[in-house]
Amino acid sequence: MKKIEVGVLGATGMVGQNFIRFLEGHPWFELTWVGASDRSAGKPYAEACAWRLDGSTPETVAKLTVQECKPEAGAPRLVFSAMDASVATEIERAFAEAGHYVVSNSRNHRMDADVPLLVPEINPDHLRLLAHQRKRGWKGAIVTNPNCSTVALTMGLAPLKPFGIETVIATTMQAVSGAGYPGVASFDIVGNVIPYIGGEEAKMETETLKILGEFAGDHIEFLPAKVSAHCNRVPVLDGHTVAVSVALGRKPHLAELIHAYETFTAEPQRLKLPSAPPKPVLYLHEENRPQPRRDAGRGNGMTVTVGRLRTCPVLDYKFVCLAHNTIRGAAGAAVLNAELMYAQGLLK
Ligand code: NAP
Repeated sequence: MKKIEVGVLGATGMVGQNFIRFLEGHPWFELTWVGASDRSAGKPYAEACAWRLDGSTPETVAKLTVQECKPEAGAPRLVFSAMDASVATEIERAFAEAGHYVVSNSRNHRMDADVPLLVPEINPDHLRLLAHQRKRGWKGAIVTNPNCSTVALTMGLAPLKPFGIETVIATTMQAVSGAGYPGVASFDIVGNVIPYIGGEEAKMETETLKILGEFAGDHIEFLPAKVSAHCNRVPVLDGHTVAVSVALGRKPHLAELIHAYETFTAEPQRLKLPSAPPKPVLYLHEENRPQPRRDAGRGNGMTVTVGRLRTCPVLDYKFVCLAHNTIRGAAGAAVLNAELMYAQGLLK
């Protein structure tokens, strides 16, 4: 098949670099355009960008000239956005107005009523909101993926949804890569835990309800549940771990829940999307798993691992889940979103 040209807005930042890495050798998408601020525009990518990931800048991208993030700058129809949040609202909207499909990792439009907050394994039908974005006069569209810790939590909860999720208490142990570069000062994080990540708890508490909610014509009916989040930064490089307690409406046996995890599969697996892992949620039976160093990279960083499911003396059950924050929680999530949009014929 002829590959679809794609661009990255905010390509020189940490998430932008993760997009470039994740798109290398993609069977459907070919990265041909990179955009960043006017500080970088006009320079070859390799000069504008201090490459912070393993290895060096992919050769095909190193020579691309960085463009300004303006719709008239010749970007392909499909663009991934890793824009700085301080400028993403207006820039993403301008691209959507001009007819681009903006598949964004930034938080700015996630909670807009007509913008899908998409996790393809959980709520592929939320893409039906795109029809309502037309009312804004946009020729294109915006689709978002969740905050990195919310991805881990919602994928851990999704197999339990048929049992009626009522109350969730989630405590995160979040990797330093989630804070971007240079991120948290080494003096603050080495041998330490920081029990605060600005804005993160509110994002987990609201995004989770939208993602697990139901498409209701022109908006999403939020899941009628309560979520309480405690977010902590820990000295781990990659992989956000979440300890979760949950109360369920139905009172299933433990074995039913394990069965739900072990048989969980979804639309991306059925469609065999290129970035979809064969098992989106992998239940680990070892008593001391999942662990970020050992499990975050499973399924090319796209598999979410769950373990330690047991009864909770306060709510009903408790478990631990883990996701690779820069892959399943950022670049990989957005690319999977675009693959689903392509498979549903939305990128034509
Ligand atoms: P970053 O490293 O600071 O990169 C920001 C990018 O935005 C750079 O490419 C920068 O270009 C560009 N930019 C800044 N101002 C601009 C402007 N006025 N016009 C056009 N481009 C501009 O940030 P990041 O850590 O990659 O995060 C990017 C986004 O993803 C943020 O919204 C963040 O909240 C979100 N996010 C980050 C993570 C993470 O793991 N870091 C996880 C989830 C979500 P220059 O290089 O030219 O300045």
